[in-house]
Amino acid sequence: MSTPTETDVLGRLASWQRALRDQFPILARHPEMAYLDSAATAQKPAAVLKAVTEFLTTINANVGRGSYPWATATTSRVEAARERIKAGLGDTGSDSTVEFVSGTSHGLRVVAQDWLAPQLGDGDEIIVPFGDHQANLRPWQDLRDTLAQRGIRIQVVPMPVDIASGDYDHRALPSVVTARTRFVAVTHVHHVFGANMNVHRVREVVGPDVPICLDAAQSVGHGPLSVAELDVDFVVFSGHKMMAAPGVGAVWARNRRGPRFAMRGWSGTPNTAGIVSLAAAWDWLDRAGLADIRAWNTALCARLTDGLSRCHDVRVLGCQDSLALDSQVQRRESIVTFRHEHVRADDLGFVLADEGIMVRADSHCQAGRASEDLAVRVSVHVYNTPEEIDRLLEVVRRCEGMRS
Ligand code: PMP
Repeated sequence: MSTPTETDVLGRLASWQRALRDQFPILARHPEMAYLDSAATAQKPAAVLKAVTEFLTTINANVGRGSYPWATATTSRVEAARERIKAGLGDTGSDSTVEFVSGTSHGLRVVAQDWLAPQLGDGDEIIVPFGDHQANLRPWQDLRDTLAQRGIRIQVVPMPVDIASGDYDHRALPSVVTARTRFVAVTHVHHVFGANMNVHRVREVVGPDVPICLDAAQSVGHGPLSVAELDVDFVVFSGHKMMAAPGVGAVWARNRRGPRFAMRGWSGTPNTAGIVSLAAAWDWLDRAGLADIRAWNTALCARLTDGLSRCHDVRVLGCQDSLALDSQVQRRESIVTFRHEHVRADDLGFVLADEGIMVRADSHCQAGRASEDLAVRVSVHVYNTPEEIDRLLEVVRRCEGMRS
């Protein structure tokens, strides 16, 4: 059983959630399937699909080229999408910019190569996460290697992590911040542990001048996000994880610390249909209510961790303190990953798929994790139901005492 608070949330929001779930055509078409892999990619509400179809069947033209009505209308839609993203991020500044990219991996690489590279000198240091998604480690390591070829040696320093709480260790962080620290990269919500990494504390430690880049792939669209509160300099995210189309994402840049952010070179025609879907998805999420979406997803995860903690053969990865039924420690936000002591994660993935339950069972692109280091990741969004969580728990319970 979940704690009363979680049960309350699920009860209070039940009819709201039903009305939202009904808006996902793929789920209506497959009522027997439980899609629990939204951290990989989220499903799309009808409003997003409609916005894309409408765009492609009414004004579709190239952007920033041409002076005929469809071309200018398309350009206006893309500009409006930039403003939509700024508003969605609670950005009230006038100097910020939004550049469209293909997703978080591309966006982080662009920040590394186009913005950070020209600023770094011999002996400079950057602090980045070594245990988050590879997309938030490789670009910084590649940057170090590119600079080394030009005779500039920088140090890529691991962001300290507190194993007990599961987020960044702000008490250990001062010992790695130096006068040569030029940049910090962080993740908002961890893609394996579902932990909110409490990045506001990072600003407190690194001081007012060091630029911070936020990988928000797992937080945008899952709850309110305010750049005013977080005081980060970049927010990078993928459309497909926030119910927009695949192949589009954005880099929001504050443009206050260091030079103005711009993508270098000729980037060609952008993914206009994707950009339209991004704005439509943000409209849908805002109308639904992002605070309630976060409450719903967190309550589903609490129901899941409570259930899993009763299975003897299961170990939930990440912060263990948050698993106690009455825990006051942060709960998992949309993502719970676990391992069965005797059943291999990929086998469990097949067993679950056989029951119509879709989860991810592999090594999750986590930096520093070997590809054979498997675990089952369950990730939810607002269309998921407590019944789907219970179905999954029932299958896991049936595996008690089993061996692969
Ligand atoms: N960062 C995090 C935290 C992620 O979860 C992911 C996707 N799993 C990425 C970056 C990469 O996103 P994309 O594949 O959309 O580029």
